[in-house]
Amino acid sequence: MTSSLDGLGRWRSFECLAALQRKRLPHVLALAARSPFYRARFSGANAPSSVADFLALDLTTKQDLRAQYPFGMLAVEHDRLATYHESSGTSGAPTSSYYTEDDWTDLRKRYARKWVGISPSDVFLVRTPYALMITGHLAQAAARSCGATVVPADSRSTAMPHARVVRVLHDLDVTLTWSNPTETLLWAAAARAAGYRPECDFPALRALFVGGEPLTPQRRRRISELWRVPVIEEYGSTETGTLAGQCPEGSLHLWSDRVLCEVFSPQTGRISPEGSGQLVVTPLYREAMPLLRYNLADEVEVSFADCACGWILPTVRVFGRSSMFAYPVGDTMVTQQQLEDLVFSLPPEREVLFWRAQAELRTLRIQIEVPEAQRATAVQELGAALNAALRIPHEIAAVAPGTLVPLPILTQDQDVLKPRGLFGPQEDWDKALLYY
Ligand code: AMP
Ligand code: MG
Ligand code: ZN
Repeated sequence: MTSSLDGLGRWRSFECLAALQRKRLPHVLALAARSPFYRARFSGANAPSSVADFLALDLTTKQDLRAQYPFGMLAVEHDRLATYHESSGTSGAPTSSYYTEDDWTDLRKRYARKWVGISPSDVFLVRTPYALMITGHLAQAAARSCGATVVPADSRSTAMPHARVVRVLHDLDVTLTWSNPTETLLWAAAARAAGYRPECDFPALRALFVGGEPLTPQRRRRISELWRVPVIEEYGSTETGTLAGQCPEGSLHLWSDRVLCEVFSPQTGRISPEGSGQLVVTPLYREAMPLLRYNLADEVEVSFADCACGWILPTVRVFGRSSMFAYPVGDTMVTQQQLEDLVFSLPPEREVLFWRAQAELRTLRIQIEVPEAQRATAVQELGAALNAALRIPHEIAAVAPGTLVPLPILTQDQDVLKPRGLFGPQEDWDKALLYY
């Protein structure tokens, strides 16, 4: 058995991959037993130590993690922690994640597995949050470890409106970016508002790395057409770091040599290596916060079918948690993904990037932003697509560009304010209040 043939984790066979996981599991179990949470869970019984013991373990849930806030999962001395994070939970209750320097080596390597590579000649724009979440720090650390020049842009900071992103993308010859997919659409609109053409005025750009939200094939194709570069998706979370990355054939592959992935079916209660259900993960190289069979609760479909790329790693389709946000219209359930695919199936000439919809019991109301000249055609085409795909009553409204994404959002270039208290006789002293 060889180790990975290169940094992308191309394994010789699935059996080889499974053997690596089996070999690693006893060590993972021993590390986990050091945390207060697993120590308590294992008390009384013999602590699990074999692969068979592992396969009999209950899931670790998000509720378990919340109940352990902040350090109930800690399996090392406090002093060894390098970073502390919390994930973007919608429930309000914080979920902590923490990593040692050694954990960070694994995190960086997993993120850096991009098939287009990251090198010292790259200028890498990080456009995801840095506050509490891991995403911005993860991309920054991975890109720096590859020698790239990092441009830290954040995505939730008033210091960096979209107009500044566009300026930086252009003037610094940014070659790679990291953001959620929606950001790349906003930059395209902001670039046009600034007089640039996304398809040809950013010649240094060579790929867009995206993640953090579900991305349908149609929307990915549109983003790629807009910027004329590959859109390379990844899937991960603050609790785990990167779990999967996209191959040149467009499939997401699980990094199963670093994280053991299983699928939980809430219907049957069974946990299997593949199929449809919720993704359950056991990181294989993790010391600060070991997780055993942690249920991420993302709806996925895992498959061991061969992929044309040749990577010996299972593929995953991620429907995320939004697949659970299906709303009834008439007697059909409607999901965001279905609508996104239809909206982004419109021909690019319609220039529809932004939309929203409201599922009412009897009708689906949709608004699309579309330029005047394209309005009638876009409405007619989207109506036909909805009839063909979903057969539900709908009302489509074409709204003027600027209605859903106001122009100032795309053009404003405000300065970061420092606190100031003293003003001259002719100055507006209300500026003293702007910082707060
Ligand atoms: P967070 O823990 O706040 O970093 O968010 C992680 C969550 O974002 C995951 O559990 C997924 O629900 C979602 N997510 C991340 N990447 C993707 C992706 N490529 N496709 C779908 N959902 C994703
Ligand atoms: Mg999360
Ligand atoms: Zn592949």
